[in-house]
Amino acid sequence: MSGQAVVSGPFSDDDDFDDGHFEWLVREVEAGRLLPPPESAIEGPAVSVSLGDACDVDPELLAAVCGPDGLGGQAALATFEEGQAADALRPDPILAALTAQAVSGPACLTDDELIGVLQATRRLANLVSWQQTLVIAEFARRRQAQFEAAKAAGRPVGCRDGEFPGEELAMELVASGPYTSGRIDTAIELTSRLPCTLAGMRDGVIDLGRACIIAARTHSMSEADAAYADRVLAAAAPGLRLDQLGRKAEALEKKLAPEAVAERKKLARELDQRVETRREESGNAYLAGRELDVSDVFASEAYIDALAVKLRSSGLFVGPIGRLRALVFTDLTQGRNPLDRISARPAPAPEAASPGDDNPRTGRDHQADEPSGSTWCDPASPSGPVPLPALINLLVPAGTLLGWGAAPAQAAGWGLLDADETKALLQAASLHPRTRWCMTIIAPDGTAIAHGCATGRHPPPGSSPLCQRASPDTQSQQAAKLLDLLCRLNITLEPIARATCDHAHAEDHYTPSRRLKHLIHARNQTCSAPACNAQAIHSDLDHTTPYPDGPSDECNLNPKCRRHHRTKQAPGWKVAQPAPDTATWTTPSGRTHTALPTVYDI
Ligand SMILES: [Zn+2]
Ligand SMILES: [Zn+2]
Ligand SMILES: [Zn+2]
Repeated sequence: MSGQAVVSGPFSDDDDFDDGHFEWLVREVEAGRLLPPPESAIEGPAVSVSLGDACDVDPELLAAVCGPDGLGGQAALATFEEGQAADALRPDPILAALTAQAVSGPACLTDDELIGVLQATRRLANLVSWQQTLVIAEFARRRQAQFEAAKAAGRPVGCRDGEFPGEELAMELVASGPYTSGRIDTAIELTSRLPCTLAGMRDGVIDLGRACIIAARTHSMSEADAAYADRVLAAAAPGLRLDQLGRKAEALEKKLAPEAVAERKKLARELDQRVETRREESGNAYLAGRELDVSDVFASEAYIDALAVKLRSSGLFVGPIGRLRALVFTDLTQGRNPLDRISARPAPAPEAASPGDDNPRTGRDHQADEPSGSTWCDPASPSGPVPLPALINLLVPAGTLLGWGAAPAQAAGWGLLDADETKALLQAASLHPRTRWCMTIIAPDGTAIAHGCATGRHPPPGSSPLCQRASPDTQSQQAAKLLDLLCRLNITLEPIARATCDHAHAEDHYTPSRRLKHLIHARNQTCSAPACNAQAIHSDLDHTTPYPDGPSDECNLNPKCRRHHRTKQAPGWKVAQPAPDTATWTTPSGRTHTALPTVYDI
């Protein structure tokens, strides 16, 4: 492979860097991969104006200075036409000013100019990504130096400075830890050994998404191979779609670093194999096996397909084969045999597939559920709902108590449920002996003010008002229903400590009771670190001031995910709980962020 050494420290010497880029440009143009930029883009009057590091340039003033004479006689907006000055300008203060002027009146632009302005914003955005990359890399290097120093001084894992740079950035950028950690890795790769890609970002021709692909796919390569791949991929990136660049980079990685690719695959299978459940944007959900063995996936898919084809061949089910596959999939994963659906149905009659037939097994009338005009015939379920253990937390808006029957329910980690989903979930949960019932009262501002836990196991199935759609009950009827439910669940509501604490729920032991845990989880549904979305029920309940100096009480306990629990204990981090419902975090950079209680979306 290429033996050329990596250009080290591309920003230590600007002249070298520019020469390198220019050579690259000349090579690409000669090879026919890039069109030669118009003269003006290189040294024409429009770009030879040097503004130094000016960052406070008045766009109108600049446009007046630049044009029309400064742009070779072109009116400012006309320069965005194909092949004209601005259309090829590198992202710099002049292009920023011209763009700002153009977007102030987009209606005046021709289609050609509009596209030119769009391309200009893209180049400017890529320049901003380049700037972010430099800043993130500098930040990461400082933390890395602190980390290495602490390690060399013999400090144990978890007590080293600079150990959680991703968590620190996540709070600042209001983003997830994996996202900011990814940005850090990419920034380090780009600034340390991908000079061509980095130059492409600076020149506005490579965006962050493409740069991330190149950084990820060259990470496992040797220095020399990474330098070669950087040149090849940076030259190709501007002209390839993201997926095309991804495939090209993947092929290059497999060729240059096959062992590393194989090792990564093996590690992912060992450490990251899982079944994943998520909400779809539509409100439905998905269930997927991740990081599976490829041959397993082929075999499973073939098995699902074969069963789906059998169901369809029976003539009992019409509808897209995709839905039959999904039906087979859910049956198999709930311990049912999909073929039982065939024996559970009567012989096909001419109208068998038409919606509206009574289900012979359950007697359920499909008419109400069937969307009109659908060709899908809901197949018979061979059994009723599968019992499901759940902690059902009924959310009751206090300010609108009388309209509570219409309030949507929430399932932990799943967000809002609609009325049908709530009904199905409650029915399944009611059948399971481990199901527990709680009630949280929500203030008009959306935060929790009281919580109560039922002492009994579960109410009689179907008795919850949430099982019914909002009904036109009178106010007094609804109030009576609520009272009735509170009595039947044997729930005593307790206030949640918010601004102040009377220590009424303080406990004289380290591990909080279920009752105290629920009060805190009702107040904070997620990890109490700013911008963290980890579910409280899967998190640690952390004493802000360690026990026994700090009490086991609402004013000193907060949920923290494992990652943030460790972060809090690292040097440079400080967490305080100035009020029971407020947590303030101070990061190693000295910035503070405040986390407030959960605001329920009901
Ligand atoms: Zn509870
Ligand atoms: Zn207290
Ligand atoms: Zn967290």
